[in-house]
This record gives sequence, C-alpha cells and structure tokens, in this order.
Amino acid sequence: MASHSDAEAAAVFVAQDGMVPQSAARRAFRAIGTAAWSALDVMLPPLCLGCRTRIMAHDALCPACWRRIDFIRPPLCDRLGLPMPYDTGGPMLSAAAVADPPDFDRARAVASFDGLMRELIHSFKFHDTHNARRLFGRWLAEAGREILDEADVLVPVPLSRWRLLTRRFNQAQILAAETGRRANKPVKPFALVRSRSTPHQVGLTRAQRQRNVASVFRVPQSEMADVSGKAIVLIDDVITTGATASAAATALKRRGARRVDVLALAIVSNT
Ligand SMILES: [Zn+2]
Repeated sequence: MASHSDAEAAAVFVAQDGMVPQSAARRAFRAIGTAAWSALDVMLPPLCLGCRTRIMAHDALCPACWRRIDFIRPPLCDRLGLPMPYDTGGPMLSAAAVADPPDFDRARAVASFDGLMRELIHSFKFHDTHNARRLFGRWLAEAGREILDEADVLVPVPLSRWRLLTRRFNQAQILAAETGRRANKPVKPFALVRSRSTPHQVGLTRAQRQRNVASVFRVPQSEMADVSGKAIVLIDDVITTGATASAAATALKRRGARRVDVLALAIVSNT
C-alpha cells in the first residue's frame, strides 16, 4: 500500500503547482501511480468504501451503501444548489436565494450532508482515511460539470494555520486536486489565505455577517494574477450555512474575480 500512497501523494503535490498535466515529470509520476494501482488491483479484492464488503470494482460503494446517500438531483435552485420541487425548464431561484442572496454566484453539491455521506466525510477529515478520494473526485466532477466547464481555476477553501497544524492536511485541497485532474483545470491552492475560522453568523443581519467575516480570507499579492478576471470554482467538503463560501467569494471578488462558484461534497439543507 505504501508505494501506491507515496506515488499518489507525489502526484497530488505536483498537481498543486496549478499546471495542467503536461510535463514529463508529471507523466512519470502518473505512470508510477497507475502501475502501482494496477498491481494492487490484482492483489487486493475491491471493498465497499462504506461497509467493507467485497464488490466488483475499486473506489466504489455496494448497492446498499449507495442507497444511503441522498444525492442532489435537478431541478435545482441556480444560486444555492438545493433541490426545487418542480422544473420550469430554465434557471430557477429558491425563495431563500431571493430573500438572502449569497456572495458566491452558484453552489453545487453531490449530496445532502446526512446518512452515509456524513460518515464518509467524517472519516476523510478526521481519521486520515483518504481511500474515498477517487470516488469523491468522480462525484465532484459530475455534480459540478456545469460550473467546472466555465471555470478558469479551482481554489480549495483553506484552513486556518492552527487547524492545518492539528489536522495535518487540508481535505479541500485533496478534493480540489482530484477534481482538477478529472476536469483538466488548474488548481491554485495558495490563492486564498485564511486568518481564522469563520465566526458564528446565526441571528446577524446580512451587513453584520459581511463585516463579521470580512477579514477571514485574503488573496496574497503574489496570487493576484490567478484571481483577477478569472472564473473561480471554490472547492470545499461541506457547505453548512454558506457563510464560509460567501466570505471566501467576497475576498476573491474584491481582487477582481469575474465569478465565484462553489462545489462541495455535501450541503446542509435545513429548509
Ligand atoms: Zn457497502
């Protein structure tokens, strides 16, 4: 398992330079990763990522676990990405998006943050179990196809420095690398810097919330060229209230981002 993990880790780090895979070094890394993976395919039986029963293919779920994921399917609110009860045939806005529009343009998510999706994300974040990342990458590329097609760059939502120290990795960066590879889009992991966690926003007015999160994210001077005039897709694991994504979008737009969409594995739908 170690050889595969090392090759994959190297591939992820190479991907973080933001270049679309072209270089000879990158092709070599990918070849090593692919060869190690193929060898493992022969040696290890594929197991369901949810319940560890034997299945036919790697990086997948058994049918019972698949049914425990509440996938988000159209019709959707074009801004918030949440399901709508009916389809009018064109872009639609939910009442929530009209009453309190977010600072990002469009959000899309793979599933509701409950059931097995919640368990998979929890083990991905807190138990260092990254074996679901290929499945996550496939899901994100599919759920975000519309916004990824129009994207210039992908930017993972960063962790604050102390949280990165305690967790040792940023799960959003791993998801961005997987998604960027599949969608063939450059990933810019350093385009945003986070100075602190997003403060609680419950019960505040829109203006108060915007003041509250104004200094959470910033774009370093060195990253301006990757932000100004660009269509950006922010990548995160979960959209909870949308406050974090809105704060990140505000920081990017202040530096001239043309549009900022958000793509996540899961979204909390408390409506
Ligand atoms: Zn299963």
